[in-house]
Order: sequence, then structure tokens, then C-alpha cells
Amino acid sequence: MSASEVQRSPSRPDVASTSARSFAPTRALRPKAKLLPEHARGHNRSLVLQTLYRSGPCSRADIARTTGLTRVTVSDLVAELIGDGLLEELGQREESRPGKPATLLDLRRDAFVILGLDLSEHSGFSGAVLDLDGHLLAREEVALDGSTGDAALDRVITLVGRLVEHAGPTPILGLGVGSPGVVDLGGVVLTAPNLGWEGLPLQETLHERFGVPVVVANDANAAILAEHGFGGAAADAMLIKIGHGVGAGLLLDGRPMYGSRFAAGEIGHVVVGTDGGEVCACGKRGCLETWLSIPRLERALAAVQGDERDRVLEQAGERLGIALAPVVGALDLGEVILAGPTGLLDGPLAAAALETIRSRTMSEFHGDLSLRMSTLGQDIVLRGAAVMVLSGQLGVS
Ligand SMILES: [Zn+2]
Repeated sequence: MSASEVQRSPSRPDVASTSARSFAPTRALRPKAKLLPEHARGHNRSLVLQTLYRSGPCSRADIARTTGLTRVTVSDLVAELIGDGLLEELGQREESRPGKPATLLDLRRDAFVILGLDLSEHSGFSGAVLDLDGHLLAREEVALDGSTGDAALDRVITLVGRLVEHAGPTPILGLGVGSPGVVDLGGVVLTAPNLGWEGLPLQETLHERFGVPVVVANDANAAILAEHGFGGAAADAMLIKIGHGVGAGLLLDGRPMYGSRFAAGEIGHVVVGTDGGEVCACGKRGCLETWLSIPRLERALAAVQGDERDRVLEQAGERLGIALAPVVGALDLGEVILAGPTGLLDGPLAAAALETIRSRTMSEFHGDLSLRMSTLGQDIVLRGAAVMVLSGQLGVS
């Protein structure tokens, strides 16, 4: 094939641009793939759905103005989305201006439900039926009773079965699952030691069993999506989820970061400091979890009285700050969010963590870093699971 043929070939744009480049080839930051017409259509569908999801009822003209799509394209997409049962016409808007009143459209918010699971608590699994706006309509729980492996998986299946019954005849948009451990982008739980899961294809197993779209992600990654979707988190933020273990979810430029081995945010077993510390479940000494996990904190607090309690909490916060300062500095984060028991985390612990991060980073850039508690409480992973379904099925968030 000659160079001119390459340049004429519509399917090989990268080859053509390479041949015209005068510098030595470098690695592209992002894979460059041609945007195919069907991708563009999917993208534009998501733009329409996103506009309605966030703004509420609006007209075809409003959508065109907001998205920058032509009115013809919007009308065409709206017809298709009404045909798919996702949108409905609400009637005509009262207009003060002369002319034909516009017809308002909205998502059919009560036509679908989302199922969400939180598998991150060591006492039991919880699940919920949610509407498209992330409100919980029904809740279910199953005790774990220390079960692991297939027995734990059976309990997940029991829980989903009960949620499907709650959903009744309402179509299920999808099932979102926040699982502990390291989860790849295909929903395989690569490792979740507390549940005894290694290479468990949870997403595929649940999809085959229940026949609905399923998305499985790490619980802290689900939690940061909930904070972004419903809790007002900034586009560059880190959420530290503190419970039985310690994990983190990272959002950079509004996108979740998973890492090359899907283990981004696994900071619980990072050793903090060079002065030793307690032996961790992983065998090392002084991991962040040994200072901060809730069972360890409760044990340390039970051994002291009065003012010493604050000192224990401050120490834990200080270690958290030591672990986070390089991350805040390297990624230029604007916001750190703590999710876990407010009674323990909010107060001396959070204050010491913020003070430590500030004292260890560049004040002119990171002095205005905010560190706050999540406002979403115990439902944070369930609501994050709903965000994953909304984003995966409708492209909205
Ligand atoms: Zn460890």
C-alpha cells in the first residue's frame, strides 16, 4: 500500500498522521480511535439524557440549546428515546411569549428501578431498590455469619433475589455492586481476602443468574461516585473509606481512577512512618489500617480514658495525614472526604489529618484543601452502585 493510499483510507487516520510527523514518534497519551457514527449517536443520546436527568423537564429547543446539537438531531433522538421507553412527553409549557407553546419532556423516572448492593461490611451484606434519582425505595440485609467463598456468594444471590421481588413488575435498569477488594473492569473480584474470593467473576455470575445488566466495582470506588453524583464532591477528590479496613476512591478530572492493576486507592496497607507500629493482618508493621481501621481504633480507645481519647484520635488522624500528604501534593487534589462512623472520624481525628496534610504540602497550592465528612451516611455504597448503573446504562451521572 502506498503512502497516498494510506492517506485516503478512512479507517487508518493514525498511520497517515504518523507519516506526516517530523518528530520521532512518541507514545500517545490516549489511544486514538476514530469516532464511529454509532458512537457519536450513543454519545448524543447520553447528552440528551444527561440534560434531562440534571435539569428536569425541558423542551426539545432547551435540549438543543444546552447540548449544542441541532434541533433536527434532538427531535430524532427524542423520538428514539421515547420509543425505547426512556422519555415521556409531559404536556405543554405555559408560555408568556406568543407562538406555539413548547412540549416538555422528561425521563420516565418511575418507569425503572435500580438494584444496589454493598458487600463491604463484615457483619453482613446490604441491598436496596433505588429510583433513578438515587432515593432508596426498599432495603434488605443478609447476615454474613462469617461465611466466605461460595457460601458468601450464595448469600449475595439470596439478597439479590429478595430485591428482585421488591422490584415487582417494574423493569430493572441494572444491578450495581460495591465489593471489597480489588475488582477489575470486567467485574471480576481479583482478591477480597475477608470474603475468601480470588478471581471470582461476580458480574458475569449475577448477570447469568438474574438476566439484568450488572456492574461490579470496589466499594470505595462506588462511594466516590456517590459523593460526586449526590454529595457535591469536586472533580479532583479522594474519598477515604474507613471501616473494617481502609480504602480510597480517586476522582481525577471527574473520572474515576482504577490504576494499571485496578488497585488504585489501596492505601490501607501502606506503611506510615519509619517508627514501626502494630503488626498488620498483611504481616507488615505500621500499615495505615493498624492506626485507622475501626476495630483497631475502638480497641485503642477502650484502653484509655478522658483526654487520652482525643490523643488516640489525633494520632490516628496524624498518620492518615502523613499517608495522604504526598498524594494530595502529587495529584493536586482539592478535596478529601472521609466516609465511616462520624462519631469517631469527625472531630480530633479529621482536624489532625487536615493539619498534618497542610503542614506537609505547599501552602500556596494546597493551603485551601478541604477535608470533610461524607454526608451520605451508611447508604453511600448503595447510592454509588446506582450511579454506576446510571452511568453504564444511560450515560448519565
Ligand atoms: Zn497491612
